[in-house]
This record gives sequence, structure tokens and C-alpha cells, in this order.
Amino acid sequence: MNFSWTPHRFAGGALALDVANSVILRFDPARSIDRFAEPKQMEAFPKAAEKFSAERALFSDLAPVEPENHAPFIALREAIDRYFRTRLTGDDAQTLLADFLEATATVLRRARKNSLEAATAHSALRLLAEAEIVRMKICGSCGWLFIDRSRNRSRTWCDMAVCGNRVKASRHYHRRKKEAVS
Ligand SMILES: [Zn+2]
Repeated sequence: MNFSWTPHRFAGGALALDVANSVILRFDPARSIDRFAEPKQMEAFPKAAEKFSAERALFSDLAPVEPENHAPFIALREAIDRYFRTRLTGDDAQTLLADFLEATATVLRRARKNSLEAATAHSALRLLAEAEIVRMKICGSCGWLFIDRSRNRSRTWCDMAVCGNRVKASRHYHRRKKEAVS
């Protein structure tokens, strides 16, 4: 299958969320895909992040994840997603916060400067520290985490051009189907 890191895949608004969103359709195990499971795709991610991530001004010449840091990096990705997603749904996330901090510390101890793993850890810590958490949302279509930077915080979808249209098209389809039946 042809795959590329398009701007849409960096709709998270923060590198840590773009990394978390490398798993698509997390809520649907039957259709879920891990884009980092393919080594070539994971290798290509840092270059795309330099072009498309909302935080691209904060890093440059990002090195791909070192093979020996692969497992801690994936553990960090999962900890980021679990912690912020649980916090957004209002459930108690204290244990997940501890897991997240441990995963972050492990990566920071091992990572070289200017590596994707280090940049992801720093991005995640910024999310934790900043008031941006109030703007964090879960896309109503694909389930990605994203930061809503719109002035009135009215975004429902990670990316209007993709998920917004997808939802609109399916509503239209169902309406037409209903009309056809009645
Ligand atoms: Zn979406």
C-alpha cells in the first residue's frame, strides 16, 4: 500500500500528539493500524515532522529513533496517548500520569539530543505543563488527539478537510438512504 506522511497526519498540533496519532483508529482494534510498525515509515517520520508538525519551529535535524531506543519510544507513545486520553474523558489518570512520567524519564536518559525520541518527550512535557490541555480534544471521527487552536474552541475534528468531510459525507449518505426508503 502507498503511504506517505501527509500534513493531515500532523493535525495533532503538538509533536507528542502527532506521534500518538501514528496509531490510527485506536478505538477499533479490527481496523486499527500502527504506522510505526513499518520500519521505513517510522524512519521517514522525523523529516515529515520537520515540515508539517505545528511545533516544527522548536526542532531541526531530528534524528530517527535509535534501534536500541525503539521499545522505550513506543512505550512513551502509548503512555502519552493513555494519559491524555484518560484525562480528557474525565477518568482518574493519576496512575497513568506516573506511568507517563516514568516513560518520559526513561527516554530522556537514553536519547541523544535532536532525536525524535527526545523531541517527543519534551513536547509531551510541554503539554503537561501548559494550559493547552484545556484545548486538547479527541476527534469525533478518527479518535486522534489534537489541540484546538481555533479562537472560539469550536473544532470537532482533527482536520476539517479530512475528518469533517468524512462525517458530512456519511451523514449525507444516510439521509439519502432514509429518503429512498420512505
Ligand atoms: Zn480526525
